[in-house]
Formats: sequence, C-alpha cells, structure tokens
Amino acid sequence: MLKNKSSKVGTKDKKIRKDLRPRDKETRAMVRDQLNKVSPSFCLAKWYQVTIHLQNGQTHSCHHPWTHKVDLRDLSTNPSALHNTPHKKIQRYKMLKGERPDECDYCWRIEDSNVENISDRTFKSAEQWALPNLDEARTMPWDYDFTPRYVEVSFSNACNFKCIYCAPHISSSIMTEFQKHGHYTESPEFSLEYLDVSGLTPIRYDAHNPYVDAFWRWWPELIKKLEHFRITGGEPLLNHNTFRVLDFIKAEPQPKLNFAINSNLGIPDAQYDRFLESMKVILENKSINSFEFYTSIDTYGKQAEYIRNGLNYKHYMDNVRRFLVELPVDTKLVFMCTYNALSLPSFNLFLEDVAQLKREFRNSINEPRVILDMPYLRAPSYLSLAVLPESFSSYISDSFFFMKRHSVNFLKEDWLFNYHELSKIERVLNWFQSLPKEGYEVRDLRKSFYTFLREHDRRRSLSFTETFPEMVDFYQLCEDVYNNDKTEVN
Ligand code: SF4
Repeated sequence: MLKNKSSKVGTKDKKIRKDLRPRDKETRAMVRDQLNKVSPSFCLAKWYQVTIHLQNGQTHSCHHPWTHKVDLRDLSTNPSALHNTPHKKIQRYKMLKGERPDECDYCWRIEDSNVENISDRTFKSAEQWALPNLDEARTMPWDYDFTPRYVEVSFSNACNFKCIYCAPHISSSIMTEFQKHGHYTESPEFSLEYLDVSGLTPIRYDAHNPYVDAFWRWWPELIKKLEHFRITGGEPLLNHNTFRVLDFIKAEPQPKLNFAINSNLGIPDAQYDRFLESMKVILENKSINSFEFYTSIDTYGKQAEYIRNGLNYKHYMDNVRRFLVELPVDTKLVFMCTYNALSLPSFNLFLEDVAQLKREFRNSINEPRVILDMPYLRAPSYLSLAVLPESFSSYISDSFFFMKRHSVNFLKEDWLFNYHELSKIERVLNWFQSLPKEGYEVRDLRKSFYTFLREHDRRRSLSFTETFPEMVDFYQLCEDVYNNDKTEVN
C-alpha cells in the first residue's frame, strides 16, 4: 500500500482515515499462507488471469508485468497460446519452484518493504476465479495449457478519441495524428519506430487479424470455464467483434458469466442504441450472472473534454443516464477516473455529478449503482501529480472530505461512497504528499509539461491556459523553468 509515514497529514485527518483500513486482513493472511505452502512466489494470477491485446498479439498475466508477444506459429495448432505462451509457462515453473519472476517486481517490492504486507499476489489469488483452482495449478504439469477464468480482451485499437495520456497502439485516432505530426518528443517510447521494434504496432482495425481468428477458434473451449470476461479497447462499441460476443450470449446463455465492457461513451447514437437493445435482451433473459459497464472520465466539463479529446461532457452524461434508466437496476456503471494533474481544478464539480447519480440510481438492496474508481496516472509522468507543487494538495483534500461526508454510514441509508472508493482517493492523497516537490527531476517534469502542452495545443488548435485558468500561474512557472534552463545551456 502506498502509505507515507512522513506525510504531512494532520492528526485529525489520520483519525478520520483510520476506519478505511481493510477489515479482512486475517482472511488475506490465511490465503497468503496457503500460497506460501506451495511456494513463497506462487501466484494464481499467472495461471488464471490474462489480458490479451489482439490488435498486436501482446499478452500478460497479470496486468502488472510488461506485455509480451504471442508467436503466430504457436497459434496455428493451439489457439490457447494467446494465454499459454512459452514465456508465461517458464514464469509459472519459476513460481512453482519458489523463484521470483523478475516481471512481478511490483509485488516483490511490496512484500519486501514489510513482511506483514499483502501484495496483489495474495489479493488476486484470493479471488473466486482463482483460489478454487489452486490444486489444479499446483498438481498439473508446469507446461500444461490452462484455461483462464478471468479474461480481458481488446479486439482492436479502433477509437474515435485522442486522450491526452493515450498512445497510438491503443487509439487509431492518435495513430493517425502521429502519422501526420510525429510523436511527442517528451514520450519517445510511443514513436512509431519504437512501437515497430517492440512488436507493438497494431494491425489495422479493418485488416485481417490472425490473432482475432485464433481468439474465435479458442472461444468454444474458453467459454466453458470462463467466469469473468471484460472487453476493452480501443473503443469496444465501435468493434463488430463486441457485437459478435453479445449475439453469442443471446443465442447461448452463460448464466455463470460475469461480463463487463469498457466504453468512452462517445460513440454514435445508432451504435449505442444497438448495444443497449442487445444488453436489455441478455439481462431480461438472465443470460449472464452480472454486468458491469466501465466508462472513462477524468474530471468535469470543458476540462474533461480537453483531457479526453473527442468527448462531449453533456452527451456523455446523457448516455450515462440512458444506461441507468434503460437497463435493469442490478447492473453497475463504474466511472474509471485516471486521476492526473489536469483532473484537479474541476474534480469537485464532477464529484457532485457523481453524487447526484448515486442518489438517484440505486439497486435492489439500496446501494448506489454508480461506482467511482480512481487509479492515478503514472505515465507519462509529466502529466501525473508528480509535476505539481504543494499548493494543489488542497484540491485533493477537498475531494477527499467531500467523499468522506457522503460515505457509508450504517446509521444513514442514503450513503453515497463506500470504503473502497474512499480508500482510492486516500491513496491518491498519500501518494501526492509523498512526492518530492522540488529538485532536478521535478524541474524536468515541469519543462516537459510545458513543451508537451505547447505542441499539443498547436496540433489540436486548443488553448491550455484558456481551458484551465486555475493553472495559468503553474503553467507560467513551467515555462520559466524551461526558459531558464535553455538560457543556462546556451
Ligand atoms: S505476483 Fe503480482 S505481478 Fe506477478 S502475476 Fe501475481 S499479482 Fe501479478
């Protein structure tokens, strides 16, 4: 957990946050002990969870390690090689022998910083899609082809948005922009040349894709054991394969399947109508166990539109309401908010919209149907909170206290935010307070912030300072750092 012992949070704040700590610590410790009996590096996510980027044939288990390429030759005889790659089998072998795969350093760092720490190795392995399969993973040969229970798949990079922190292999619109203007010099890892040598260049969404073919050949086997299936993108609702999945479920109900789709909710109305109609049929016929709809948004109004180019905030919120009105009460809508440096000034206005939706739309046991998830942006770091000075901290605390005031309270029935949601914003606040606010690295981030936005505004005919009046002084500071350092070099 990202806790900072030397943070400047006052005693009063600490007391308020004490009740946010996980309550099932003992259960987690029991699962960790069960895993450790097999080996101290054993993690079921390597066997049973996978994300597959079919646009470029990349895969990883879980989402923390870097992706690696699926060999097309393996797929010709075994489509499950989209998950069971030779690379992954070697990592599983290492885990069975108690060796730590380097690619899992995210978990090792957490476990090594304190023996009591619980990492994602335990959190993920404790899930219902993982733990009941422990004996299978432990006893079957290390090079066996396992069927994952949790699959996340992206069919293509087709997307009509150009979000400020996104990349060309994820969005076809950014790909088109990069083909015209080149990459941003601040992010050379997204240059088209680099993507090429890294095997990340996507197959065009309208071209034949052998990875998608392999997926559909694997599907009849996969679906038999699949428990969680999430379609991501690109923009999934622009892809015909998403509708092929919906048609399949309509024809062959999967009552145990927990199904989820991500969307930018900026798709043409006809496409959205088609999606809602299909989902109504699926849900009315109880053809799946549950449905969650994930949609991305990072703040309010014009500032949200600047971050997520292509978004129309009002149309977006109208589509959110349509989902909540037209689909049954036991469906959930999750706002995925990638909290970044530009999220802060208007974030409380967005929280008010979220609170209103939470008040209005509740499920059959009177819990809000709208959930707020807040992963924070790490890369590119010059757009993350790491670029900001201390003065921005009050924006985050205000959001925290707003959520706290409306948080779960068993004496009140109309609570809006649950413990999990609060812990996410607490984590953001703790992280921001732990960051250095001065020094060479921070200066470099600020220079990149300025040069990136200058070029970004030029190629999209936008104005950062007009859209973010609250950040004009900070932008000026970044420009001064850039000019000073340039003068010194000359
Ligand atoms: S050990 Fe950690 S990083 Fe590795 S697969 Fe498990 S959860 Fe993911």
